Amino acid sequence: MEAEDKKNNTKDIKADIKSLTLEELKDEMTGLAEKPFRAVQLYEWMHKKLVRGYDEMHNIPASLKEKCRERFSYTALNLVEVQESKMDGTKKYLFALADGNVVESVLMHYKHGNSVCISSQVGCRMGCRFCASTLDGLKRNLLPSEMLDQIYAITRESGERVSNVVVMGTGEPLDNYENLLRFINLLTDENGLHISQRNLTVSTCGIVPKMWELAREKLQITLALSLHAATDEKRRELMPIANTHSLAELMEACAYYFAQTGRRITYEYSLVRNVNDTKRDAKQLAELLKGQNCHVNLIPVNPIKERDYVQSERQAIEDFRDRLERSGITATVRREMGRDIDGACGQLRRRFLEEQS
Ligand code: SAH
Repeated sequence: MEAEDKKNNTKDIKADIKSLTLEELKDEMTGLAEKPFRAVQLYEWMHKKLVRGYDEMHNIPASLKEKCRERFSYTALNLVEVQESKMDGTKKYLFALADGNVVESVLMHYKHGNSVCISSQVGCRMGCRFCASTLDGLKRNLLPSEMLDQIYAITRESGERVSNVVVMGTGEPLDNYENLLRFINLLTDENGLHISQRNLTVSTCGIVPKMWELAREKLQITLALSLHAATDEKRRELMPIANTHSLAELMEACAYYFAQTGRRITYEYSLVRNVNDTKRDAKQLAELLKGQNCHVNLIPVNPIKERDYVQSERQAIEDFRDRLERSGITATVRREMGRDIDGACGQLRRRFLEEQS
């Protein structure tokens, strides 16, 4: 049991008040000889009014605040830095966690609303070759509350309503599976921010057994799969996870996700010049996805200084999209948000860590 607790961080969650569901919080109140309505009040302060601590909770008696301080920890992020793009108003935030680790999150403005991109781990152990988040490996998983806190802090700081959330920042969400599910549960709860499952996207590099598990949850969230190559050989060069799971296994898991949830998969494909952006690559991708009800997001790779990957030419990107479209696969080129700020995953955090050392 201890080992299980450790793996899932459930030991931490039990003591972390903002990671508890309303039902669990009610049980806790009973345990503290308090009335269940106190749980409703606490939950509302934390998840609706988004307060940073008990001091801001006006209708909670001092005696209960004291009990809570003794029994629970209360996570809150400290803003270290915020960068705003002059091109499109995208804001990139660097937050410090209680233990001094830092994570980054992004606020993007779209016609359909505001979208926040959050991190799910401190660092990452997946080792994708073009990604800055993974260069120093994984430090630790984020708690459900620490994932929520990124959205709460941005809502408070910007004064804007967040309608969409994408778990596409630093970390592999399916490598922090239990906490991710709890986070989804809390984020979509009607007693909290009540963000619809359909407005939530979780992006994975393709941890097949967890994709099967997630499919069985039958959630209405969008699953984005980071594909980046249409053959096993090429994918293995870019993403170490491809050594563990073949494309055939991945496609089977995606088909299962669609069958269980009715939600079409979004495939992410970062275009790297002369690596995966040729006519042949487009043809192989079209072949791989043939007949699937899916969507392909083409992302011009964001170069990082530690690697010599170069962005594809504009023309190559458009040709690539057109070839997919002609094969009946819907594809869009993702608008690059905030290119003038440290835009690529993990770059802001990395620059910060480098400056510290
Ligand atoms: N681990 C998850 C989520 C985080 S990465 C995943 O792999 O999906 C979010 C997306 O950004 C992934 O598609 C990832 O491959 C992509 N990405 C990472 N670094 C990038 C870069 N430098 N340029 C373009 N896309 C990048």
